[in-house]
Amino acid sequence: MSVSRFTFVSGNVALDLAGTVQHRRTDRTDLLDGPEALSRWVVEAGLLTSTPPAGAADLTAATTLREAIYRLATDEAEPSDRDTVNAFAATPPAQVRLAAPEGVERLGPLPAALSTVARAAVELLGGPDRARIKQCMADQCTRLFVDTSRATSRRWCDMLECGNRAKAAGFRARHRVT
Ligand SMILES: [Zn+2]
Repeated sequence: MSVSRFTFVSGNVALDLAGTVQHRRTDRTDLLDGPEALSRWVVEAGLLTSTPPAGAADLTAATTLREAIYRLATDEAEPSDRDTVNAFAATPPAQVRLAAPEGVERLGPLPAALSTVARAAVELLGGPDRARIKQCMADQCTRLFVDTSRATSRRWCDMLECGNRAKAAGFRARHRVT
C-alpha cells in the first residue's frame, strides 16, 4: 500500500483537513484511506506530538467533521453542518505543555485533535477571514486556502505544485507546443 503524502498549504488546519480529499470534482481521492492515515495526519498537522491510536469510529468522526467544514467553507452547507462543527468544538482539545528543554508538547487522544480542528474551523468560518477563503484556480485542484496576501490576489493553493503547472499549461496553450 502506498503512503499518502499530505499537504499543508491552506493556512488553516481546518481547510487542510478538507484538503485530504483531492480532486473533488473529477477524480475524487481520499488520502485518509484508513485509521492509520488519520493518525499520521494529526501528527503531521502538528495537532498531537505522538501518534495516537485510531479506529474506524475515529475515521468516521474525522470525515464527518471534514465534510461539514468543506460545505460550510464553500457555501454548500447543510443545516446540520454548523451543529456538527460546534459539537466537535465542544469536546476537550489537545493539551499543550512546555517540553524540556524546549518546545511544545501536544497531548491527547485522537478526538482531542479533531476538537482542535473544529475550534480552528469555528474561528475561521465565524471570523473576518471567512471572506478570504478561496478554492485553488488550478484545473482539477479543489483545495481551499486562506488568502492572506495584501491584495487578496492569491490564485493557487501551492505555487510549486499548482501555480507552476497552471502557468506551464497556459504557455503550452498560447504557443501550441505539441
Ligand atoms: Zn491547487
